[in-house]
Amino acid sequence: MKSYATLIERAAEVITPALHLYYPLEVVRGSGICVEAIDGKKYMDFSSGLAVLNLGHSHPRVLEAVAAQVMKLSHTGGVYYHEIVVKAAESLVAVTPAGLDMLFFSNSGAEAVEGALKLARYVSGRQGIISFTGGFHGRTFGALSVTTSLSRYRKKYHPLLPSVYHSPYPYCYRCPFEKTPERCDVDCLCYIESTLEKLIAPDEVAAAIIEPILGEGGYVPAPAKFLTGLRKLCDRHGILLIFDEVQSGVGRTGRWFAADHYGVVPDIMTIAKGVASGFPLSAVVSRPELMRRWGPGAHGTTFGGNPVSCAAALATIDIIGQDSFLTRVASNGDRIIEELKTLAGRYPVIGDVRGFGFMIGVEFIDELGKPNGAACNKIMQHCLSEGLILINCGPERNTIRFIPPLITTDEEMTRAVATFEQALRSLR
Ligand code: PLP
Repeated sequence: MKSYATLIERAAEVITPALHLYYPLEVVRGSGICVEAIDGKKYMDFSSGLAVLNLGHSHPRVLEAVAAQVMKLSHTGGVYYHEIVVKAAESLVAVTPAGLDMLFFSNSGAEAVEGALKLARYVSGRQGIISFTGGFHGRTFGALSVTTSLSRYRKKYHPLLPSVYHSPYPYCYRCPFEKTPERCDVDCLCYIESTLEKLIAPDEVAAAIIEPILGEGGYVPAPAKFLTGLRKLCDRHGILLIFDEVQSGVGRTGRWFAADHYGVVPDIMTIAKGVASGFPLSAVVSRPELMRRWGPGAHGTTFGGNPVSCAAALATIDIIGQDSFLTRVASNGDRIIEELKTLAGRYPVIGDVRGFGFMIGVEFIDELGKPNGAACNKIMQHCLSEGLILINCGPERNTIRFIPPLITTDEEMTRAVATFEQALRSLR
């Protein structure tokens, strides 16, 4: 084999550039909140491997559970039953919002979204889907059809799924209707009503799919009055409400699910990323009454509900469910949000700080208040050189996501915020 100077060069020979990584960084191992690079340098991983490693890298209890399961049985392929899969399902539905008590396991976020859309169409007998601009739901055709966080993701893949109607996401910092929060008439909801009046009859709409907190699209929590209004609108028209909690779920926001902050229960929810601490697992969760109408063979999978991933999920859910784990995430998150808001007061390049728990967005702006992706990128590069991995999001890539593992201590968080401030100072 031809030899190359670095792993990154070797990767460029065999892995398509379509898969774009955040940093040209070769890591050799991970433990807790840190990864170690090939040169021995340690980095605090505040990306959590793209919001997946809620318990950090290589959590010993997760690894133990995985190792034990690997030695017993590592695949079922939808051919036979195995207890760990049922146990993982029981433990997951025990923490999902009330009534969402039955699930379908798959492997990735996009697959869960596909499942949710299929379930909605199947049980409603309707075809239309409402989604929200800035939403990211995955890269497969159905999921991509409801994804509008960046046109680059959709480019050259048309025609996508028909009968998808995009509606403005309630991104209050940059209100699509140019209102201030005080003058808000929830125009984003009126927009949907007008879609139902002019573009598609309500009784042809199967579902509305939304991230209660926009992830890839900019880390934007929807305001409570919007989500409660959306719930009512869906009920009024018999439209199923799907919450995509692939990124916001499993403790990330200081509650089990973002839905819990709002007291709004969707009809269908998608879960992935954090649920199995890095092992591939996702789920579509819904009410048994809907799930039971999804007939045998109407959906399926070979790898979904893999027993090793289920063992990881069981351990993950157990740890997050322990006393005061989530309370600690919520209160630490509040503290960090306050600290970041204080920085926003001192550094005008920060336009907005928002979020819940350890799902925090810091939006960068220029002198005119316009998105400032360049500053955001400089901050990320500076932090990387100081051993802190941060990733960005938003259409102009001008929002940094603070998504550390949920096990990050106060001291580690303080250190990360100090590095972040140092990066802010370096912009001056
Ligand atoms: N839905 C949301 C909210 C996401 O954030 C993502 C991924 O970032 C997905 C779906 C797609 O997940 P996956 O990349 O596992 O297919």
